[in-house]
Amino acid sequence: MENKLLYKGKSKSVYAGEQSDTCIMEYRNSATAGNGAKKAELEGKGALNAEITTILYRYLENNGIETHYIKTLDATRMLVKKVDIIQVEVIVRNIAAGGFSKKYGVPEGTPLKNTVLEFCLKSDEYGDPMMNESQITALGIASQEDLDILKNTALRVNNLLSSLFDRCGIILVDFKLEFGRYNGKIILADEISPDSCRFWDKATGDKMDKDRFRRDLGDVLGAYREVLRRLKNAQQV
Ligand code: 5GP
Repeated sequence: MENKLLYKGKSKSVYAGEQSDTCIMEYRNSATAGNGAKKAELEGKGALNAEITTILYRYLENNGIETHYIKTLDATRMLVKKVDIIQVEVIVRNIAAGGFSKKYGVPEGTPLKNTVLEFCLKSDEYGDPMMNESQITALGIASQEDLDILKNTALRVNNLLSSLFDRCGIILVDFKLEFGRYNGKIILADEISPDSCRFWDKATGDKMDKDRFRRDLGDVLGAYREVLRRLKNAQQV
């Protein structure tokens, strides 16, 4: 029997799992940028992002961060806990780039004196606008207690991922996290991949993430493959 499609996002589809508290997350090859304005099919991207996310979620779980990951089903599909997604994206920045550089007129690559944490409303319709904590609590999207958990967890994830990627010769510039509620607990959900992070090669400064697609830099999947290769090597050490 076909599993019921619950949700189709820009690059992933979510199906009902066999148990009512599970879902099947399928990573597709679709790539989008500019809130869907630019689109392409990149053959193999789904499998690369699924494998990269799996390595990162296993690593985070081994270091005390609970995630929605249960197990891998095949190259592009994983079984995950069915969570209620909290409708804010948490962005962590170690170095100025992307939206931050544009919004505040700060050259890309400028070091930041402290880690920057941002919240954005998850809304394609309104272009994921940045929200402050009082706006989020005022609308009942999350309580202050929830936000404190999101912030603390995001910073722990940043420390863990920054040191892992450093061992891979990759600078973790910034990334986006999503969280969900599961059995009364807040856990990490969605993906962590070159679609949701900025990775710069430590030696050359080359971009190894979705900016290659957003900015037409070419060889998008070559960069994703190289991120995966280095993560696999780091696991063997
Ligand atoms: P920026 O705000 O500079 O565009 O994005 C900051 C970081 O968060 C980047 O690593 C970017 O890939 C990630 N990010 C921000 N919004 C989204 C989103 O809606 N989807 C995904 N996959 N990543 C996002």
